[in-house]
Amino acid sequence: MTSSSVNACLEAARKADAPIMIQFSSGGAQFYAGKGLDNKDYTAAIAGAVSGAYHVRAMAEQYGVPVVLHTDHCAKKLLPWMDGMLAASERYYKMHGEPLFSSHMLDLSEEPLEENIDICVEYMERMAKMDMLLEMELGITGGEEDGVNNEDANQEDLYTKPEEVWAVTKALMKVPNAKFTIAAAFGNVHGVYAPGNVKLTPKILKNSQAYISEQLGMPQGSMPVSFVFHGGSGSDINDIRESIGYGVIKMNIDTDTQWSYWDGIRAYEKENRDYLQGQIGNPEGADKPNKKYYDPRMPIRAAEKACAKRLMQAFEDLKCVGVLGLGDSKEPSNVLASSVYREAGARKGALPV
Ligand SMILES: [Zn+2]
Repeated sequence: MTSSSVNACLEAARKADAPIMIQFSSGGAQFYAGKGLDNKDYTAAIAGAVSGAYHVRAMAEQYGVPVVLHTDHCAKKLLPWMDGMLAASERYYKMHGEPLFSSHMLDLSEEPLEENIDICVEYMERMAKMDMLLEMELGITGGEEDGVNNEDANQEDLYTKPEEVWAVTKALMKVPNAKFTIAAAFGNVHGVYAPGNVKLTPKILKNSQAYISEQLGMPQGSMPVSFVFHGGSGSDINDIRESIGYGVIKMNIDTDTQWSYWDGIRAYEKENRDYLQGQIGNPEGADKPNKKYYDPRMPIRAAEKACAKRLMQAFEDLKCVGVLGLGDSKEPSNVLASSVYREAGARKGALPV
């Protein structure tokens, strides 16, 4: 949602020695552009996402971590947002031979299945030409996120059927150079609720893998489908690990990182409350200045640290720690200063030179 939250993600990825996916929702992209800007025809959400993409590209290289740059739920009414971002990637691809974004999600799960598939195929064709990945949604993720409320969704819609996964796979496989993932519903919800309210059934993913393997004539135990786990916040580690075992390659975590970012600010304010009530005057004296406490960078940095800490747990849950092989990073460092990274083939900046 801001360059600060992006930096917290990059900092955590470097510390975990792991790759990361950073994604913008339409609301988050609009926020990146500034809520004071008119968002008619999603122009602010398009510009905000593009701005965020450039920020991620410029900074990922400095942190030395690979990033999959993605955007979140795009419902039918948000397709103009997607079109704007794809146009930006097409321009970028013409100049640099790669798309600006790595990947986008289309969420047409509210539409009839046939229409969902037709629109996905249409976009897959456009995206495959730029080597982009498409994430599509089947079934409904419950809960509430980014203004979309599925808290009263039909229980049956919270669980995807293997036949639906096959219908999507069959259609998208026909597109040349297609790479896609499926956000299948297995009882997952956006948001964090009191224990007992969310019943995850990762076996649904296993059943789909078995069904599709059979259709494709693949041996038993194959995992032809790459799944995405929405609503990872507040999930039990056993459900996370089980779903990874059934072919989940991406887990979204939003609510918990939101909380951690806020919790950093909350704790900072609590600790320094007496120094934050005016520009001058604190427990050390009525004439003492408070500038170094109320400088907004102080609470924001506290938020970044708390958020990076929560992300470290996610890297561990998802078995991602140490996978890049860059070694420990106790202190932040600029990779462009290190010959190790240059000799390892790091580019001189992810932005075009
Ligand atoms: Zn989601």
